[in-house]
Formats: sequence, C-alpha cells, structure tokens
Amino acid sequence: MGSIVLNIIKVIGNRLPAVHLVAASVCAVIIGFTLMLVPSEEVSATRGDLSSSRSSSQETLKLDLNLNKDAIAPATPERQNATLTDREEIPDKNTDQVVATNAQTTPEPASAEPAPVPAPKAENWVDYKVTAGDNLSTLFKRAGLSARDVFIVSEATKNSDALKRLYPGESLSFLIQNGELKKLKHLINPLKQVLLEQDGDSYSIDTVEKKPDIEHRYAYGTIESSLFLDGEKAGLPSNTIMEMAALFGWDVDFALDIRKGDSFRVIYEEKKLDGKVIGVGKIVAAEFTNQGDTFTSLRYTDSKGNTSYYTPKGESMRKAFLRTPVDFARISSNFNMKRKHPVLNRIRAHKGVDYAASIGTPIKAAGDGKIIFRGVKGGYGNVIILQHGNNINTLYAHMSRFKKGLSVGSRIKQGQLIGYVGKSGMVTGPHLHYEFQVNGVHKNPVTVKLPHADPVPKSERASFMSTSQALMAQLETYSSTQVASAE
Ligand SMILES: [Zn+2]
Repeated sequence: MGSIVLNIIKVIGNRLPAVHLVAASVCAVIIGFTLMLVPSEEVSATRGDLSSSRSSSQETLKLDLNLNKDAIAPATPERQNATLTDREEIPDKNTDQVVATNAQTTPEPASAEPAPVPAPKAENWVDYKVTAGDNLSTLFKRAGLSARDVFIVSEATKNSDALKRLYPGESLSFLIQNGELKKLKHLINPLKQVLLEQDGDSYSIDTVEKKPDIEHRYAYGTIESSLFLDGEKAGLPSNTIMEMAALFGWDVDFALDIRKGDSFRVIYEEKKLDGKVIGVGKIVAAEFTNQGDTFTSLRYTDSKGNTSYYTPKGESMRKAFLRTPVDFARISSNFNMKRKHPVLNRIRAHKGVDYAASIGTPIKAAGDGKIIFRGVKGGYGNVIILQHGNNINTLYAHMSRFKKGLSVGSRIKQGQLIGYVGKSGMVTGPHLHYEFQVNGVHKNPVTVKLPHADPVPKSERASFMSTSQALMAQLETYSSTQVASAE
C-alpha cells in the first residue's frame, strides 16, 4: 500500500506544482489516519441511534466533547433540523431492536413534554470514549463509580467476552441512578454493542449485532492529473481509489504509464445502517482505460467463499510475480550481459537487476514458491533462492539478514517477507541483487513477461461466467445513465 501512495504522489509531483505535492502528501497521511479513525467516528456517529429513545435530555451532562454531539437531545425542531445526525436521534421505525431492548426494561418517560428547554429525565446516559491506556477501572472512575462496581461488573462478565477488550474509539455509556450502575453499554462499533443490565446483585449481558445494508455505488472519471485527485473529484472514497490502484497496479504503472485522458469507471459497495452511510465496502467491478487499453476487473466469490478479482474471461488480475521485490527502491544497475563489474573492474554479465535501498529494507518473495537455497554464496553474500512451480527460480542477494524462521523447504507466499536489504558479499553499497530465471536461463526481471496467477478454476467456470456477464451488464447500464446525464 505504501508504495502505491508513493507512486500516486510521484505522479502528482511530476505534473503539478509543489503545493499540490504537499496537499497530496497530506491526503496520503489523512488516508492513513482515516483508516485508523473510522471505527471511532462510526461509533460516535451511530451512538445516537442506539441510545436515542433514552437520551432525550442530556444537555446538562455534556462531559465528553467528542461524544456529546450525539447525546444532546433532539428535543426542539431547531435541533432536529440542525444536522443530519440529529435526525438519526429521533426514534423511528429504523431504530429497531436495540431501542426495543431498552424499552422493554424501562418505562418510557411521559412523552408529552412541552418544555422547549430539556429537563433531566430518569435515564441519564453518560458516555465516555475509550482512549489509549483506558481500562474498566479508569472509565468507571471517570463515571464516578467505585472499585467495588468494577469488581461486580468484572465478576458478572468473567465467563463471557463482554468488556474483555476496550479499544480506543469505542465508547462506554453508563446509566447511573442514585449512585448505582443500572445499565452499561459497550459500543464496539456501529454494528455491535453489548448491554449490561442490573439484575439483582449482578448484571445480565446482552449482545446486539446489526447487519449493514449493502448498496452499490457507481463513479466514473477522466484523468486530468492523477488517479488520486481525479478519483476524489469523481466522488470516490480514498480507500476505493487505493483499492483500484492495487487492482490495476499489475497492468498499469500509476507513476509512469498514466496519461491525461485515461478514464475509469467503478462500481463499489457502500455500507448503510438505518439509512446512514457507515462505511465503504469492496470494489465490485472496475474498468481502467490507459492509453487506449482497457482493463476490467470483476469481483468473484467462489463456492468456498474465497474472493478474488478476475478479467471478464476469468483470468486473474494478479500476476504470479511481483515486478519489484522491494518497495521504496530505485534501480541502481540494470540487467546487462556485458557489464563492467564495479568491483572486479572487468566485463562480467550482470544477470539480474540491482535495487538500491537502505540496509534493513524488507525484501518480499516475488511469487508463491519454496526456498531451495538459504545461505552464503560467494560474492553474492547472503542469498535466498525460491523455486516457483517447475520452471521459474528467483534469487535475492546481498541480504543483511534473513527473515527468522525460514529454512530450505519453507513454503512462501507472494509478498511474504523473506529478508532484508544489506551489503553482504562483494558490493560497493547496500542493494538487493534480484535474478529471474526461466528454465535456468536468466531473464531481465524488469521486462520479462510475467505470467498471470491462477485463473478461475474449471469447477467454478459456469458460476463465474454468469457473475461476469451480470457485472458487465451492470457496468453498461450505469455508463448509459452516465452518458444520458452528461447530455
Ligand atoms: Zn547485481
């Protein structure tokens, strides 16, 4: 992923003024942070849903700035119109089972409450967001509860998963009456919460899970500057753009090959809960046209539940080999059968490609295979040789060290870490020397035609073809709307 971000930034850097490069870097950072932040935002966004019928007047209990946007009551019409999320707090047919659970156990306060200024009601839920370093004790203390309360709740939950792990971004909601903890809600994410309810001297536990509605969204665009910026312009979420870059990255080098006028169209999933978008799902179908060549990628889940992306004919989108086994590297010496050796200073074929990178840079297996050599090999220093199928070997030399736990015979997956860049053997500086052999003949790893990963298996063929046709038809339907709306 890192390299994709970098590549996209590189494209932008090539074509746009520096300020955009900065903006793009910020974007990249934001993507990273967004990925981390998504759960917490989701929690706070839907928390209102889940506690809506209870928390109709918590204005006076604004304890946590992060959360209480949701906790504030939608008591007045102004509030109801204020923001989108507020609307979600009004109990309606969509605030289903969770609210129902609460409603069973607690009588609803008198509904006819004319006062425009909300007054405290019986159920004052107070919410605390879990932050780094929090545990049950710190959160209970913050809520004004005692160590004894922590003990009773821990006892009540000791034989279940409830409250065993608290992660930053989640939240705990407390309902405390006369100093006694009546109910406790652990909001794990918008789709899952655990409710504890006082039951004699202990607490009953109830886990409530919801399923999001999945809807398809369509977007299309033309490249003006970069996949990232034009993807955003087309309204694509940033992780969908990254996903698209990864899908087509096998065929299109988004740093070098992309041109103004290239185009894309994408169908992707959107996750909704109670009518509100809570997240983005996977790409369902996507097309990228690069310099006149169109690449299409369709998602298919086989009968065993494995999901992969294929061309409409059922070939894998993935290649069986990575083109470059190291990220963040540059070619320092090309494949050359008549090179003058930099150390020996005489003509000696360079049967691989050198990638200059700092010592310790991870080296990835180019393809699935097994280790047939791991050790020191003369001027090559520390070497790993992988065998892929019957006729292809890849060789990685000058490593500083091997990944622990690997030995001759170990099975390796494509992209798996096998060792680290170094300068062992006869070298002038740290780099990876990488060789690609087909039937014992050295090929240029930069230009060798890479085979596709396995296609759709024969047994899945019929099922795949019907999926493929349906998805292609869906793309066509969407793009005819696209043309119509453009006219
Ligand atoms: Zn070399």
